[in-house]
Amino acid sequence: MLIGGIEAGGTKFVCAVGDQTGKIIAKTSFPTVGPEETFKEVKAFFADYSIEAIGIGSFGPVDLDKQSKTYGTILNTPKTKWKNYDVLKRLQTDYQLPVYMDTDVNAAALGEYKYGIGNDVDSCMYITVGTGIGAGFVKDGETYIGKSHPEMGHIFVQQHEDDKFVGSCAYHGTCLEGLASGPAIEKRNGKKGNLLADQQSVWELEAYYLAQAIMSYFLILSPERVIIGGGVLKQEQLYPLIREKILELVNGYVAIENVDNFIVAPSLNDEQGIKGAIALTL
Ligand code: ADP
Ligand code: ZN
Repeated sequence: MLIGGIEAGGTKFVCAVGDQTGKIIAKTSFPTVGPEETFKEVKAFFADYSIEAIGIGSFGPVDLDKQSKTYGTILNTPKTKWKNYDVLKRLQTDYQLPVYMDTDVNAAALGEYKYGIGNDVDSCMYITVGTGIGAGFVKDGETYIGKSHPEMGHIFVQQHEDDKFVGSCAYHGTCLEGLASGPAIEKRNGKKGNLLADQQSVWELEAYYLAQAIMSYFLILSPERVIIGGGVLKQEQLYPLIREKILELVNGYVAIENVDNFIVAPSLNDEQGIKGAIALTL
């Protein structure tokens, strides 16, 4: 059986055709422009395959409440052409197939859980630190959505006393995303993160914030593994720094048997989102 997957990101769309084993047989990507042009491209790609279901991991915020009249609609987004756009209805109209929808980060968490570095645990979370910060959680093969959906990147963390940055989140200033996303690093330091590789203090501070957030996620959700990726984590020196700080913060209160196995990098060469989108249909 062939399945269509869509990773609908704010900057690019990835579409793929695959099967239940996680094998991808065809894949394409294109920039996210307005919905009309974007879904025309989606249609052109899938036209060559007889897919039987579609899974989509979408940028948000998106209405994922199945009881809601606007289920499947993009909500409040700065991308004005997408605001209130009914993605689910569009796909159902174009394909007359079952369509399964979730957040982009939940799809990525599911991809790693089924086919990647989360495939030996019962629960895991996937955190992305890039233009924004988001996280998804999977337990026993099911993603967690709740009433609207989690927005774990916007939790508050304690700002370091030496960090006077006002924060970059348009809604909350110094929430986690406002302090630790790629744009936050760039605004605080006047340079993009990739040009700050040798500035130890930048990554110490970054790990200080990310470890606090992971501590909260850990205490609330108790995931067995935490997978952390996204553009900012290209700075691989962050992994040992985050592990060290999380152990300090947890301070033995909850056991973390092997921290190297608890906080890990993604494993699917940037295909966790698209593989997870396909897996949403299973
Ligand atoms: P997006 O979140 O838009 O899907 P990414 O996950 O690639 O995309 O994140 C982009 C952000 O990551 C940008 O703010 C960029 O500056 C930052 N970034 C990308 N590469 C690096 C790097 N090597 N080191 C530090 N930051 C990086
Ligand atoms: Zn925020």
